[in-house]
Amino acid sequence: MPIRRKTRKIMVGDRQHGFVGIGGDAPVALQSMTSTYTYDIDATVKQINALHEAGADLVRVAVPDKRDTAALKEILKQVRIPLIADVHFHFERALEAIEAGIHKIRLNPGNIKDRPKVEKVIAACRERNIPIRVGANEGGIIERQDKGQRAEEKAALERDYKGKMISIMVEKLEEYLRIFADNDFYDVVLSAKSVDPQIVLGAYSEISQRFDYPLHLGVTHAGPPETGRIRSVVALGALLAQGIGDTIRISYAADPVYEIEDGKELLQVLGLRLRTEPELIACPTCGRIEIDLIAMMSEVRRRLAEIPVPVKVAVMGCVVNGPGEAEGSDVAVFAGKHRGVIYVQGEQVATVTEDQILDRLFEEVRVFAAKVQRGEATLKNQQVNIKPPDPIGELGSGWDKIRQEKGTVLPVLR
Ligand code: SF4
Repeated sequence: MPIRRKTRKIMVGDRQHGFVGIGGDAPVALQSMTSTYTYDIDATVKQINALHEAGADLVRVAVPDKRDTAALKEILKQVRIPLIADVHFHFERALEAIEAGIHKIRLNPGNIKDRPKVEKVIAACRERNIPIRVGANEGGIIERQDKGQRAEEKAALERDYKGKMISIMVEKLEEYLRIFADNDFYDVVLSAKSVDPQIVLGAYSEISQRFDYPLHLGVTHAGPPETGRIRSVVALGALLAQGIGDTIRISYAADPVYEIEDGKELLQVLGLRLRTEPELIACPTCGRIEIDLIAMMSEVRRRLAEIPVPVKVAVMGCVVNGPGEAEGSDVAVFAGKHRGVIYVQGEQVATVTEDQILDRLFEEVRVFAAKVQRGEATLKNQQVNIKPPDPIGELGSGWDKIRQEKGTVLPVLR
């Protein structure tokens, strides 16, 4: 299980919607973003509630227009999960969202740069204890207004695109964070997303060395789940396994509920989140297979969906790995010569013919799940490591640079 990097802790939410910690000793928070027009209150509430039901800790909504921020008050009345307003270009949307009772603001340094405007948002957030995510995205990071700077940045990118892009993202974050440090505002979360997992890995590794702010991880514009899944999981999984990352969003061009389903699975397999649904382990089958395992699998999945306890069930095609998996699972079956040998927590309980495997397996699963519910049996693999015992170590140039300019000491971790 990963040892988490130590960061500051921020709190998002209120009594009505619950509080979610990000960073510090809080578990990694899972979030997604609605794909509805926020001004369409019914559709947005429906999607937020579906995401909440699926396991989201936080939900972000886009507020490009005044009619979107105008809808927030009513949306907040109808949901029970903290909400984040995603603000681009117009700082006024942030002020309106704060007024409506939003729990967190996301600002993009690429399109809200003007210091007085950022300071207005900071002041409004401070007044209501609202944290701000500073989210630098690869797509919006290159200078668009200053032509000279833009040409310089583009020329640098031609020589070493990925390395330079990481440098530019980190520099822009540092530059932006000076405004926050000058205003003594530290309720901040950082992100530096890209469509390229290698840039994501490099950027977050760099930022985690320079700042002690909690980090929001994501691979942006990853595409549909079929192609975006690997792209997202390779970057987020590698960072989380190193203890980097305090909240995540997997982004798909699809129903956002898929983002939560896959994000949950990622956190669960890394031991960063307690599993709440049954876990299925199955062999990929090979020339030694002795039952029709692939056909059996969909039925096993369907029946597992009705089990209210996160039992670990293994279905193996032969004796090669069967006994080993039987040891590590709550309920397991391995096949041999059109028969199935069934185990419960490592103890052999039955040998049945192939046509009886499913029914007998689920008889055992149900009995075992009932025992867990009554407190008569304990599930395997239910430990979750959420404590960050490691000191953060030396911080790099990020805080150093800001400190030098500000002439103050490094802000104390809370
Ligand atoms: S468990 Fe047996 S059938 Fe399944 S992949 Fe392994 S060796 Fe092949």
